[in-house]
Amino acid sequence: MNQPAPPCPERIKHLSAQRMVQQTRDVLLLWRRLRHGDDACLNELLEASLRLQRWAERLEQAPLAGLAQMIGQRLQALVLCPPPYPTLALTELETLIKRLSRASLRRGDQLDDVPLPPLRRPLYLLLQDHEHAERLAKQLAFFGLAAQALHSAEALRASLLEQRPEVVVMDVDFTGPGRGLELAQALQDDPQQPVALLFFGCDETSTSARLAAVRAGAKAFLTGKLEASTLLEKIELLSNPAHIDPFRVLIIDDSRTQALHTERTLKSAGIATRVLIEPLKTMDALADFQPDLIILDMYMPGCTGAELARAIRHCDRYVSVPIIYLSAEDDLDKQLEAMSEGGDDFLTKPVQARQLVTTVHNRAARARHLNARMIRDSLTGLYNHTHILQLLEDSSHRARREAQPLSFAMLDIDHFKRVNDLHGHSTGDRVLKSLALFLRQRLRRTDFIGRYGGEEFAIVMPNTELDAAHLVLDDLRRRFAELNYPAQPHDLQCTFSAGIASLRQDMDALSLSTTADEALYAAKHSGRNCVVKTPD
Ligand code: GH3
Ligand code: MG
Ligand code: MG
Repeated sequence: MNQPAPPCPERIKHLSAQRMVQQTRDVLLLWRRLRHGDDACLNELLEASLRLQRWAERLEQAPLAGLAQMIGQRLQALVLCPPPYPTLALTELETLIKRLSRASLRRGDQLDDVPLPPLRRPLYLLLQDHEHAERLAKQLAFFGLAAQALHSAEALRASLLEQRPEVVVMDVDFTGPGRGLELAQALQDDPQQPVALLFFGCDETSTSARLAAVRAGAKAFLTGKLEASTLLEKIELLSNPAHIDPFRVLIIDDSRTQALHTERTLKSAGIATRVLIEPLKTMDALADFQPDLIILDMYMPGCTGAELARAIRHCDRYVSVPIIYLSAEDDLDKQLEAMSEGGDDFLTKPVQARQLVTTVHNRAARARHLNARMIRDSLTGLYNHTHILQLLEDSSHRARREAQPLSFAMLDIDHFKRVNDLHGHSTGDRVLKSLALFLRQRLRRTDFIGRYGGEEFAIVMPNTELDAAHLVLDDLRRRFAELNYPAQPHDLQCTFSAGIASLRQDMDALSLSTTADEALYAAKHSGRNCVVKTPD
């Protein structure tokens, strides 16, 4: 019997190459499944990428092995976090996967050039200014959001049939004055499930336009300059309402029974509460709990509710925290007198649970909305200079009292002046905004992030030791440096330097920030694009 001839080296090479193409396909197909919401295939995908890496190494295909390795590393990081996966992580993976697809599949291979499906349901952008819509769509894609600019009502209908969007952003004047509103109304009359609508009006719009938007079921009405960051923020809120922190209410009442009763009512409506029986500890409780709203008893030992309200209002930080009196006092004169001392509302006991919850909810929501405008930097949406320092101070107090670690980091973009000089101020602004978004997506929800000034950022990291903070910041630094910003005349990359310090018993917030600043200075002097911690 004839033995089959041993395969010649050429043949082995050919078979191996085929095998590798197959493995690349496995990775690409599993990636598509993941992107279509099949979170369960993550482990399979990770294994496929490791397999591909091993084969590529064996066949001495260094670039392919390198790509597979990078993909594997990022997937490994995802395995540790529960879905939904961070958009930015997915965007980075998407870029790598595209490179993989280009690097390994020959022309004519079936998967070549097949567009990968979008990250999640798309966003349809219908603006009067088509160019602006196209530009926005591109910027949003940069953050992993599949946005499509549509230029006619027909295009919208066709797209709706194809895929339900996450959100439709509609210019009130799309295809003509007021026509956007009409189109939106027609959409909502469609018996199919309604779509989430965001309206946009270039100018300050009339009451009737705003009313029409409300009737068409608008979730929000944006005016002014429509920016990618504003849109992203609104969309995150719309699609992830669970991310909104529950409202915090401080209940000050010397009667424990009454206070606990109020607390139970609010808690059952998902409102976070803290009860304070001793009114003389109000200032500490305010600093510690940072309530969105205060419920105040009228008569307490040591002080009256009206006095306490006045004392609270003397403190700049709490000028705008709503105060609601909850008391059995039914003398209207006394009620009005109490209100004139800085109260916002008066509820007479016994109060219906529904009325209490609604009042608290509405007042807290408005206060938070207004407050957000006061304490946030308008370009990046991060906390502003004053507020991040305030948070640093509060966190330092708490850390010392509870003997917990606290780290503080200062970041500064490297050679940012050059970015402005070479690419223009608006590109510079975009870099600032995306670093802000990047930090928000990457850091823990318990960390506080602020824009310290110009191109400087500050991060307060409660319960974080110096070394742990260093690891996190250094990882951020590496990943940030890998980001590519689409820009003219060519894409650009940016880096940042950072300094970190941790709280010692003999330090206050000021000395902590000075120490971090010195560390940042040292990082700049040791060549930038690095993170320095003190003491090292
Ligand atoms: P270094 O690596 O030493 O930090 O160099 P640098 O160029 O980043 O630092 P420098 O302090 O010399 O310049 C900071 C630049 O940041 C100057 C200023 O025009 C720019 N900048 C500050 N705020 C903004 C802003 O809001 N938008 C834009 N686009 N640029 C800003
Ligand atoms: Mg009382
Ligand atoms: Mg700088």
